Amino acid sequence: MGVIDEAIERLWQRIMARLRSRHRLFEEPKFCEQCQAADQRSKIFILQVSRTKIPYNPFYDELGNFCDNDPNITTIEFKCSRGHEWKEEKKGSGHETFVGAIPKQI
Ligand SMILES: [Zn+2]
Repeated sequence: MGVIDEAIERLWQRIMARLRSRHRLFEEPKFCEQCQAADQRSKIFILQVSRTKIPYNPFYDELGNFCDNDPNITTIEFKCSRGHEWKEEKKGSGHETFVGAIPKQI
């Protein structure tokens, strides 16, 4: 395989990894922690998804690796069918870095 083919293959692998990462956001099993603590079951509804819009420039480093330095935060607000609300924040394009979950007091 030539150098260009290898570069394209690496880029393709990264694109696919990013897509999988993005979709995993809603594909992984998810439970309300407060319900779990009380040994109860519930559905979880997504109330809102928002994302900061900080401009940034992804780049290729000296080794040719693509560096996605996306500083943007995606915030997802959840509410379970028993009324518990919380939000989760994730950093980066592929939502790969979990910043934290913040329970909301009702
Ligand atoms: Zn709950």
